[in-house]
Amino acid sequence: MKVAQIGSGDPEIAVLAGVHGDEPCGVRAIERLLEEQPSVERPIKLVVANEKALERRVRFVDEDLNRVFPGDSDTETHERQLAHRLLEELEGCLTFSMHSTQSYADPFAIVDGVDETAREVCPQLPVSAMVDTSNFAEGRLITELPTIEVECGQQGTETAAQNANRLIRAFLTSVGALPGDTVTRDLPVYQLTDVVPKEPADTYEVFVENFTQVEAGVTFAAADGNEQVADESFYPVLMSPNGYRDVFGYAAEKLEVLESPPAAD
Ligand SMILES: [Zn+2]
Repeated sequence: MKVAQIGSGDPEIAVLAGVHGDEPCGVRAIERLLEEQPSVERPIKLVVANEKALERRVRFVDEDLNRVFPGDSDTETHERQLAHRLLEELEGCLTFSMHSTQSYADPFAIVDGVDETAREVCPQLPVSAMVDTSNFAEGRLITELPTIEVECGQQGTETAAQNANRLIRAFLTSVGALPGDTVTRDLPVYQLTDVVPKEPADTYEVFVENFTQVEAGVTFAAADGNEQVADESFYPVLMSPNGYRDVFGYAAEKLEVLESPPAAD
């Protein structure tokens, strides 16, 4: 784990990257911020989590870090120890944790319940949606500490790294750590309701777009040509042919749209 700080004092704001070692976008954005050393109005902590996995360019070394929180200091696995140390490091901070995905190119925010912080911060981020994952949060950082996660884009792409850079800046501005104004936008809010399992197969296909409603009766995916049909309508989230080992992704419902206030004259 690498920890750095910009500004003096005890930070209440943290930016976290490299929870997954095959998602370098946030790490690059943190390095860029450290090079630029912007003047800040509140101190910020910058943390790169799983350096060992990043070096090897793998999601994890022993097990998925974002499934083993709160971790354990007295254990064999690298990620469980790391989870424990990360919680100590991030205690007292609102943490902005950057990820990337194989399922969707547009950035979106992930929260554990739509609380006041989520309602305040997320509409100021350059994201197209906010997803409440509280039904499926076990073992994730988001259950332990106040955390906003963002999916910055497609894993390993230049665009995801650029998005991560924009997202960090918007986040730090929204919490008053960087000077200036953010742009507030209308933000649809989704809640994950079900996992969409996939059968063991050689080839997987997904025929629908994430965040676009799938009507009942529509064939949305296939495993070795075996079609999966929607029983009822849903919104696909984090759905892709090969992103996860045993699930296609998640089904969500749309809760509301947070409307941005009308612009002042
Ligand atoms: Zn991730």
